Amino acid sequence: MIQEYYRAAAKSDALNKVKAGYIPIGGGTYLSQHQEGISTVVDLQDLGLNEIKADAGTIVIGASTTFRELFENDLIPVSLKMAIQQELKINLRNLVTVAGHLCITDGFSIIQGWLYAAGVKIHIYPEGESIPLQAISNPKELAKEGFIESISIEKNTDVHWNTISRTPDDISLVGVILGQQQDQNIRVVLAGFNEHVNVLSPINKGRIMEQVKDFLLNAHSQYSNKFISYNYYFKNSITLLERILKDNFK
Ligand SMILES: Cc1cc2nc3c(=O)[nH]c(=O)nc-3n(C[C@H](O)[C@H](O)[C@H](O)COP(=O)(O)OP(=O)(O)OC[C@H]3O[C@@H](n4cnc5c(N)ncnc54)[C@H](O)[C@@H]3O)c2cc1C
Repeated sequence: MIQEYYRAAAKSDALNKVKAGYIPIGGGTYLSQHQEGISTVVDLQDLGLNEIKADAGTIVIGASTTFRELFENDLIPVSLKMAIQQELKINLRNLVTVAGHLCITDGFSIIQGWLYAAGVKIHIYPEGESIPLQAISNPKELAKEGFIESISIEKNTDVHWNTISRTPDDISLVGVILGQQQDQNIRVVLAGFNEHVNVLSPINKGRIMEQVKDFLLNAHSQYSNKFISYNYYFKNSITLLERILKDNFK
């Protein structure tokens, strides 16, 4: 149970607390409901980490930026805004932060799928290192010696996605997200397959159908979407994939 809440006034102040075992808190929507084993938290909201700015070729988003701030910012690609609209209803959008959402891995998340497909990089304070999200198996683990300061997206990111859900604003039961890489290969991310979004290695456009089918067949035993059968997932993810390729990657 959370017994001590500390609001840091400077990044160095927050870092000292993290090193002393305090857990960084973003919007608090997850931590407030999952307090097992957590006794001290450090709030990062006064550190000015909610800026969205354009650098040379890159959009840098502060870790404490809420999805509402993202949704309302002109620098953010429309396809990410659509994912935010689909996944986070207005109350959550007002609270949930970029870093908080990245740390709560959920296999149904189109937003996380979008960030993986875009090849997002994570910047950790104090190292200032840029780590590709894909290289991190559990973003929460990053916060042992520091905290997430920002993430960055390439400005020319080209990500497209499509989903099947029970109603337009319900969670995505099947989600396919494709991101074009600079080398013309495409990164495929599948949401709704199991407890993590599944990120496939970048694939040449001509081989996507074959490789995604191979992945789905080989990973059959890891399938764990309790809402729909594996066969339903297989058939419909392939249909969505065909549709996205036809409409966006001719
Ligand atoms: C598809 C989907 C649907 C969802 N639907 C709902 C819903 O309907 N209702 C609902 O209540 N929730 C829902 N959630 C969960 C909700 O989105 C999470 O509660 C939210 O992502 C947590 O964000 P937060 O900013 O509130 O994080 P917090 O609760 O503040 O923190 C979450 C984790 O992130 C870590 N963290 C935060 N900031 C940093 C940082 N800067 N550096 C390092 N670590 C950090 C914390 O230490 C903690 O481990 C949904 C999630 C998904 C993926």
